[in-house]
Amino acid sequence: MELTLSKDDRKFFEEVAAFLAAELDPSLSHKVKMGYPLEQTETREWTSKLNARGWAAPGWPVSMGGTGWTMTRRHLFDAAMRKANAPEVQGFGFGMLGPALIKYGTAAQQQRHLPAILNADISWCQGYSEPQAGSDLANLRTRAVSDGDDYLITGSKIWTSAAEHADWIFALVRTDTTARPQAGISFLLIDMRSPGVTVEPLIAFNGKRLWNQVFFDNVRVPKSNRLGQENEGWQIAKNLLGNERLLVSRVGENKRLLEKILYITRKELSTGVPADKDLERRLSLLEIRLQMLDATALRLLSHFDEGGAVGAEPSMLKLKGSRLVQDMDRLMFEAIGYYGLPLDSVSRGGRPVREDYMDMVVSGLFHHRGYTIAGGTTEVQYNIIAKAVLGL
Ligand SMILES: Cc1cc2nc3c(=O)[nH]c(=O)nc-3n(C[C@H](O)[C@H](O)[C@H](O)COP(=O)(O)OP(=O)(O)OC[C@H]3O[C@@H](n4cnc5c(N)ncnc54)[C@H](O)[C@@H]3O)c2cc1C
Repeated sequence: MELTLSKDDRKFFEEVAAFLAAELDPSLSHKVKMGYPLEQTETREWTSKLNARGWAAPGWPVSMGGTGWTMTRRHLFDAAMRKANAPEVQGFGFGMLGPALIKYGTAAQQQRHLPAILNADISWCQGYSEPQAGSDLANLRTRAVSDGDDYLITGSKIWTSAAEHADWIFALVRTDTTARPQAGISFLLIDMRSPGVTVEPLIAFNGKRLWNQVFFDNVRVPKSNRLGQENEGWQIAKNLLGNERLLVSRVGENKRLLEKILYITRKELSTGVPADKDLERRLSLLEIRLQMLDATALRLLSHFDEGGAVGAEPSMLKLKGSRLVQDMDRLMFEAIGYYGLPLDSVSRGGRPVREDYMDMVVSGLFHHRGYTIAGGTTEVQYNIIAKAVLGL
């Protein structure tokens, strides 16, 4: 594989840079850079701009409104967007449900939902985990009982990110209690405004509403909202991410974080905070790790683009990428020293001490701990690697 950028790639970067210069409002990118929460309207507006340019859904085929790009080009695009502090489009619709609808949806389901995702007219959340079913997802118990042309849903989903804003949820439900666990699951699209759906907040230890618990009490859902065949939801859930599972390296996110570290450490040093003697060495190590991760991700993606098979590499990239985020966070946290301590008052409506970025640093440190768990825990990734690579 070629590690230097081709002429085409360089031209592409210029196009992306011109688009960002014309369309990305500096006040919006400043909010993203500082980790301030964005209004839903801001994310929607940005998604519409991307959609107008044809870039909202890099992972979808052109016939469905996507770009048809290779994985390598998508990786480059993501890094350029994040480096410029552009807002992110909603992953649940674009990265998860969209590819599943394209692969398993009926024409009616595709026509109804894909344009709405592309234009950010509706937002989605993911209803997989339950109080007794996380890593062991096949143990899920939310029941869907057949009632004529509908299902009646009863049960609850937990750790549901963004459910407080979501218009729809895609959920795994049990349609057969007698089959072996994986064989009795179906995949449903549920309107969050249906009678019987309630959403309760779950507050993380940075004081923010990171998740929700969603309750279903005899919620009526038309069978036409089922994706794929009854009892075949497990297969869909497993394939849901499709190629998306290759884009787990968090290279773009880490590049953005590195920029933040440089900005913050320079600013802190300029205020007379004594420099940690080890700072330069630690910064260099993080940067080296990032470059290695980037090269490894590009190697894997171009191997895949050339038709190569992929095994446990995504698990390795997930481990390396999320750990790097956490180590970047730690260095930033140390750079702001004890000014991060009053965060607790910020989460209760107070103001950050001294600089606005104090809240972003501490919140990031806490929030990104969740990367060890979200998308498959570290131990589960180790299991996959042990099985696929070591044959254990
Ligand atoms: C930031 C964040 C966002 C999330 N968003 C969503 C969402 O939007 N929708 C959704 O459905 N879920 C979401 N989740 C939930 C996430 O998918 C689950 O937390 C995850 O699957 C782990 O399940 P659990 O929390 O029940 O932990 P458990 O599965 O109970 O695991 C507990 C501990 O046991 C370990 N363990 C479990 N099984 C094994 C094993 N076989 N071998 C070795 N160790 C094992 C785990 O590694 C972990 O350390 C989110 C989680 C986080 C952190």
